[in-house]
Amino acid sequence: MTILSPIEKLNHTIFDENQLHVYIKRDDLIHPIISGNKWRKLKYNLKQAKTNGYEGIMSFGGAYSNHIHALAYACQQHQIASVGIIRGENHYQSNATLSQAQKWGMKLTFVSRAEYKRRQDPSYISTLQNHYPNHLIIPEGGSNELALGGVGEIISELSQQLTYDTLILPVGSGGTIAGLIKADNNKHRILGIAVLKQADYLKNDINTLINKPSATEENWQLLTNYHGGGYGTFSIEAAEKIAAFSKQNAIPFEPIYSGKMLLACLNLAEQGYFAKNERIVLLHTGGIQGLVGLAERGKINSTQWHWPPGLSVH
Ligand SMILES: *Cc1c(COP(=O)(O)O)cnc(C)c1O
Repeated sequence: MTILSPIEKLNHTIFDENQLHVYIKRDDLIHPIISGNKWRKLKYNLKQAKTNGYEGIMSFGGAYSNHIHALAYACQQHQIASVGIIRGENHYQSNATLSQAQKWGMKLTFVSRAEYKRRQDPSYISTLQNHYPNHLIIPEGGSNELALGGVGEIISELSQQLTYDTLILPVGSGGTIAGLIKADNNKHRILGIAVLKQADYLKNDINTLINKPSATEENWQLLTNYHGGGYGTFSIEAAEKIAAFSKQNAIPFEPIYSGKMLLACLNLAEQGYFAKNERIVLLHTGGIQGLVGLAERGKINSTQWHWPPGLSVH
């Protein structure tokens, strides 16, 4: 599968008023269902599992996790087993994300929040490994060393596609921005928009992933005041603004990652943060499958949103 995702121009009066050239790299189009950065992060993890003859891959996630969703599909495609350790109760197994993951063959184990908190604890990991001896265990969100190489390929694709000054992306665990920083090697400005509250600790995590001392911040920055209330939280106004932009540009967005990045970019543009004629690329990290769950739970009004072909509310 080729994953050179397209670039499109974005339109908004705020961009025009500030003489900005804003583009979006559509990693959400890498695959109609499995979108974006999770696919990139899994690429070399899957290779590793195959090369080393693992029987399956095990990983962790919340009940609506894009990573779990992507992992289930990718493992089915590569004909290897998958196991998801899911935070929360059994009843989540019938939600849109997890019922799809099970259709793709993933085995789910639901664990308490307390147990889930131990997901990085070496003794917990080794217990899991004993239960599933032939499984490659990868962290929540897929953010490990192998993920960086897959994500870094975005930078080489961009260099074939356009010239730009600044690359903007949403940040969850920091794996994606770390891969971009490493591959970019100080050639462009990279701005990460943290989607969770109190995310300053992520700066250290990012530096750790790229093997830099913790105080290092070179051509990149993590903006931590655009979380809009915390992970998975957004106001009605924010959702409406994102949905309107999405319809106007006929590009799907969701309010948890790509939408927060978009609102941050509009706000920064309005404040005169960017230089005149600056060329900006937003990275659409995907996650559009999450819209179904949000609509199911009544968290968004599905008629306001631009839905990509093939995705719908049941
Ligand atoms: C997981 C995810 C992110 C965050 O990526 P990290 O590598 O964890 O920072 C961003 N966007 C979408 C759609 C995601 O699913």
